[in-house]
Amino acid sequence: MRVAIVGSGFSGLGMAIRLSERGDSAPQDYVVFEKADEVGGTWRDNRYPGCACDVPSRLYSFSFRQNPRWSRDFATAGEIWQYLIDCADHYRVRDHIEFGADLTSAAYDETTRRWSLRLADGREWTADSLVMGVGALHRPVVPDIEGIDTFAGPTLHTAIWPDDADLAGKRVAVIGTGASAVQLVPELAQEASHLSVFQRTPAWILPKHDKVWGARRQQTFARFPALQRLVRWRTYLQLESRVLLFARIPRGMVLVEGIARRHLKASVKNPEVRARLTPTYTIGCKRILLSNEYWPTFDREDVDLVTDPIVRIEPDAVVTGDGTRHEVDALVLGTGFSLSGSYDRMRITGSGGRELAEVWSGGMHTNLGITVAGFPELYVLLGPNTALGHNSVVLMIEFATDYVLQCLDRARAGARVTTAAAQDGFTSEMASRSKHTVWTSGCQSWYLDRFGNNTSVWPGSTISYWLRTRRVRAADFEPVAAHLESAALEDRVPAPTS
Ligand code: NAP
Repeated sequence: MRVAIVGSGFSGLGMAIRLSERGDSAPQDYVVFEKADEVGGTWRDNRYPGCACDVPSRLYSFSFRQNPRWSRDFATAGEIWQYLIDCADHYRVRDHIEFGADLTSAAYDETTRRWSLRLADGREWTADSLVMGVGALHRPVVPDIEGIDTFAGPTLHTAIWPDDADLAGKRVAVIGTGASAVQLVPELAQEASHLSVFQRTPAWILPKHDKVWGARRQQTFARFPALQRLVRWRTYLQLESRVLLFARIPRGMVLVEGIARRHLKASVKNPEVRARLTPTYTIGCKRILLSNEYWPTFDREDVDLVTDPIVRIEPDAVVTGDGTRHEVDALVLGTGFSLSGSYDRMRITGSGGRELAEVWSGGMHTNLGITVAGFPELYVLLGPNTALGHNSVVLMIEFATDYVLQCLDRARAGARVTTAAAQDGFTSEMASRSKHTVWTSGCQSWYLDRFGNNTSVWPGSTISYWLRTRRVRAADFEPVAAHLESAALEDRVPAPTS
């Protein structure tokens, strides 16, 4: 086929819908490879109790498919998953989706100038262009703690939550206090007999202003979609205005910190616990969390906040640096994701036999977070430097999708590859623009790679990303033929000797 799309979450599904909508609906036009048996990506996979989105759903949804029937401002994971299923049905893209199709390798064939794809079940396909919609937060991280594999009870990760998980009446340890844990902990506190939350770094949390959407509101939005669009715009502008502090004047974040401090004071009575829950880094450096229930949980008699570092795990206990054995029946890991993990699990080979995992081992560098030098006709959605700390990533996915559509149109006249110069320019720009943002203000987070560089977040406004991706710059690409010729020439010319 012409285009192979990998994944059917917001990115892959959005790409498929846009291709269908503009008339690419012949079977050979595009195929979506989905390893699971249903669409939905992260919203299909994350099923831990309390899982929801912390961006209002009227904005965390496709601009071209508004849903007047959200049950509340911040929809649950299940509701967002259902929304994506409805989108797949509404736009009739299911016929293009191969379910149970787990891509294990993709290699660019320099002779045919096509991608050769191999699935886990041995099936093989070829495609002119390859679009990766595999998500950034997909592969769970299991922390490297001594003895973790000797734990005798169940060990659950927030990202792989079995539907039949039963922690009722159990003594449960939760490791991690990020976005997932903050949603999960209040729920677990209701069912566990005792909860120990192991915190390495406290999180900044703001009040969550979440309203239920009554039938009247839903009917009004269904009858007057323009009104819902207006409300969506208002939410967009409210969130977007925050980028000024995040990316330009991080010192101004102290104003936001004041709100969080007041929220903490109102939430936790015990001053000693409150002190241990207070972060010391600038708010926004790690993702700001929203919750009205998480902090008050620590006033419960049956919930402990443990801040001594974990030294090891034994079959029935978590042992901390002060020598305490915290006896538990179950272990819950809210320890996040490996950013490169989504790509490491498959072998992607570009021109000259170079593998993406190896190329990215020195940093996930791209042009615009979408194209990679040396990888012709490869497009990445929600790629490096396109995550957001202040607004909805669905916007970024839609901008990138529009950009890819333009590239795919140009590819009809011949395959192209982004130039090393364009990629180097974008990489230096990201480094210099990230320097004075809140994300590089001194904390550790998944936004920074192991070299301390921001290769995750777009260090600016969504408007600036839209302006950058609205039109493809011809100079950022070269025809594959020219690229292969110059690569062959480089191989033939001996390196200068000293
Ligand atoms: P995360 O933010 O990366 O948090 C991981 C947590 O585990 C951190 O508290 C970390 O501590 C802790 N941790 C990791 N290794 C540890 C170890 N060896 N010992 C002790 N603690 C350890 O992961 P997440 O909560 O799954 O969230 C990841 C991202 O997913 C979020 O930032 C967000 O973008 C997305 N998410 C979004 C929503 C939503 O509502 N939209 C919900 C959930 C997740 P340190 O802070 O000290 O490293």
